[in-house]
Amino acid sequence: MKKNDRSKKDSEGLTPITTSKEWKLLYFQHGRPGLEEGSEFRGLCRYCELRDICAIPKPESGVWRCAYYKALTRKKTNLYENVINQLEKAEDIVHFDRDSCRILAETTNELIVHFPVKMDGGKVTMLTGYRVQHNNALGPFKGGLRFHPLVDIDEIRALSTLMTWKTAIANIPFGGAKGGLQIDPADYSIEELEKITRRFTFALGNNIGPEYDIPAPDVNTNPQIMAWMLDTYMSTVTPNERNRCLHVVTGKPIEAGGSQGRYKATGQGIVFLIEKWAKDHGFNLKGATYIVQGFGNVGSWAARLMKKHGSKLIAVEDVTGVILNKEGIDSDDLADYVKEHGGVLDYPKARPIDHETFFNTKADIFIPAALENQITAETAEVLNVKLVAEGANGPTDPEGDKVLQRKKIDVIPDILCNSGGVIVSYFEWLQNKRSEFWDLDEVDYKLQKMIVDAYERVRDTAEKFKVDWRTAAHIVAISRLELVYKERGIFP
Ligand code: NAD
Repeated sequence: MKKNDRSKKDSEGLTPITTSKEWKLLYFQHGRPGLEEGSEFRGLCRYCELRDICAIPKPESGVWRCAYYKALTRKKTNLYENVINQLEKAEDIVHFDRDSCRILAETTNELIVHFPVKMDGGKVTMLTGYRVQHNNALGPFKGGLRFHPLVDIDEIRALSTLMTWKTAIANIPFGGAKGGLQIDPADYSIEELEKITRRFTFALGNNIGPEYDIPAPDVNTNPQIMAWMLDTYMSTVTPNERNRCLHVVTGKPIEAGGSQGRYKATGQGIVFLIEKWAKDHGFNLKGATYIVQGFGNVGSWAARLMKKHGSKLIAVEDVTGVILNKEGIDSDDLADYVKEHGGVLDYPKARPIDHETFFNTKADIFIPAALENQITAETAEVLNVKLVAEGANGPTDPEGDKVLQRKKIDVIPDILCNSGGVIVSYFEWLQNKRSEFWDLDEVDYKLQKMIVDAYERVRDTAEKFKVDWRTAAHIVAISRLELVYKERGIFP
């Protein structure tokens, strides 16, 4: 069943119960108390990850189910397994030291916290949060924090490992970590979100710290969430330490100690690399077309910054819908629309299309900037682009990767392509530690230098070992970590 088609019945004859044109996602959960037939909730369907309006049919056997669940359900790929397979692939090519690889194949610490939060109506809800610290051989653990109903330990484990590779490739003195909270923020009021964030920070306690583990924004988290985390953390230390821990989180609002340019850093990094790729390939970005999946922080900034090259955004998909305009979509105008309406659905200057058509759209560049496992064997097969610049973490699964290679579509892999965020997080951390303030030109200049250097390391490694860029990026990262383990030895 097509994602935007709300009129058809599914294979069991269930019809979506709402005709509302507003952006309303129906929330569905196993046996959620108080759920009535026909109830509407904002949020994602936990089973089908539906990006459209879905229905809640009468429960069968006492189990609430999304109307489209059967039609859309698919096996969730094990992201961590993919990450380890990729490590082994690099190991096979370079024959890295086995002990170093055994260390890198494991995470260092995994924390799961369950904590209560009192909601607006006075009810107490138990929530589950994760923080996985993969490796800190090169410096403090570093990595984002996402709020998403599908977050689980496996995903966080995988993403924390990718962070270790990313910081190693970028040559910055950080390790890798990732955290997550299993919630859909759209289900909560702003006051509840603040309480949830503060209580989660408190539950993490000394497992985070400015010289130990430094969170940052990721999916569904933003500078405001970072400011609440900072304030909570500051409130738990002694008065003497209060102003010495500004760098416990990065991606803060500027006034709360954030860096110029951090808000757009990941998108900016992607665009610097697309420029570099275009230069290396003698490709003219003026008039080039691009499509973007995900129009949040990463996707919208990448899309907006491409505009200055005269490139044309022609299709966008996000959690609310999919749109196309072959004449071009003004990315700044769309960003304003999304800010007001919460998503691209019903954007008046483009026409709605479905998920399949989005992947079929002929363009020069595809920027996936949503979630993992979007480019599969199936979607890669129909993809009609020259370059995939991976803004999201883990957007391509191993089968999808094989198809991209067979079709000779260039890929700038996630652990290189989206490293602009962590690079500018490093700048923010340094500025906080040194009580300095860098201006935007300085931040952008340094970001471009670092990310293009990383690109060249990966490109040269790919040429040297005659491997794809994802494998080359892993070789760069693991080589750096292997050296540290060799030099330092293993304690005791
Ligand atoms: P965000 O929450 O700001 O935006 C996420 C976007 O993805 C939204 O537009 C949402 O509608 C869309 N989306 C979610 N599920 C989708 C689905 N199933 N299909 C289509 N679209 C969907 O998050 P973000 O910070 O922009 O992060 C996006 C990706 O980039 C993630 O993979 C994240 O890990 C990665 N990343 C983010 C940063 C950063 O600095 N924020 C840095 C590096 C990597």
